[in-house]
Amino acid sequence: MKRFEDKVAIVTGSSNGIGRATAILFAQEGAKITITGRNSQRLEEAKQEIQKSGVPEAHVNVVVGDITSNSVQEELIQSTVDKFARIDILVNNAGGAILDKMGNLGVNQSLDNFDETLNLNMKSVIVMTQKAVPHLEKTKGDIVNVSSIASGPRSVPDFNNYSLSKAALDQYTRNSAINLIEKGIRVNSVNPGVVVTGASEALGLPKEISEKYLNVLRNSKHCVPARFVAKAEQIAQAIAFLADRNMSSYIIGHQLVIDGGTTLVTGMNATNFAELMN
Ligand code: NDP
Repeated sequence: MKRFEDKVAIVTGSSNGIGRATAILFAQEGAKITITGRNSQRLEEAKQEIQKSGVPEAHVNVVVGDITSNSVQEELIQSTVDKFARIDILVNNAGGAILDKMGNLGVNQSLDNFDETLNLNMKSVIVMTQKAVPHLEKTKGDIVNVSSIASGPRSVPDFNNYSLSKAALDQYTRNSAINLIEKGIRVNSVNPGVVVTGASEALGLPKEISEKYLNVLRNSKHCVPARFVAKAEQIAQAIAFLADRNMSSYIIGHQLVIDGGTTLVTGMNATNFAELMN
């Protein structure tokens, strides 16, 4: 028996990147799945990819729309229950950094950008959680939030609003985990470091610039000690672990850091102490 056989999962932001890889993995492992995002073409590609791996079309529910819209949030829950009669797993993955309209970074980022970023990365998670809880309570289900190592405790000075939203999300994961375990629902998060996805394209970065940036990271033991940058599939595996009650039942309100060692090093490690001694 496949590990998510008879389970029903909603994965937000599954038209691309980490969400798409997670939806594919869940479906391959037997889950019936609701996929969603704003880009209908990418969503169709994700659906095709799922079906290519032998999953019947009837196991896939597609909702096109903006996760910050109340009607889309409602449709995600309602269409899943209408089609599959239950919800076992909610992965709150949709999100990302949003560029300030004036191109400002750090403390100069606008309040409009703050609202937009928090709305996407934090408020949509609160609403989706609230709407899913009555269904997850019936199935003793699981929630996995997709946060980031940008949540702290180290600073992320350029992407101030993004890091604030992920810091808030981590506290929400802890708070909701304690609230909801009373109903038998587990909540955890994954906190990835750098992952190759559509995120830089979504930010408007030209391909050659993001490739240059990734190469700097890969080639520096002070940025990513593992010396490689993760693929979305590697994060999907961790999400599946946290969503799988047989594997992780005693893990509650945890932030699982997946970053190739990035958060273990500081600028001080850039000093070659052995060289100084000579
Ligand atoms: P991608 O840009 O590849 O995917 C983002 C997904 O979120 C897409 O499916 C996109 O769909 C969806 N999305 C974004 N905004 C909205 C919106 N307003 N309404 C509905 N869907 C939306 O990025 P990643 O896979 O990298 O990002 C997934 C999560 O991982 C995010 O929460 C991000 O913060 C987090 N993360 C990513 C890291 C990385 O290095 N890549 C590192 C740490 C955390 P569409 O465009 O179709 O709307």
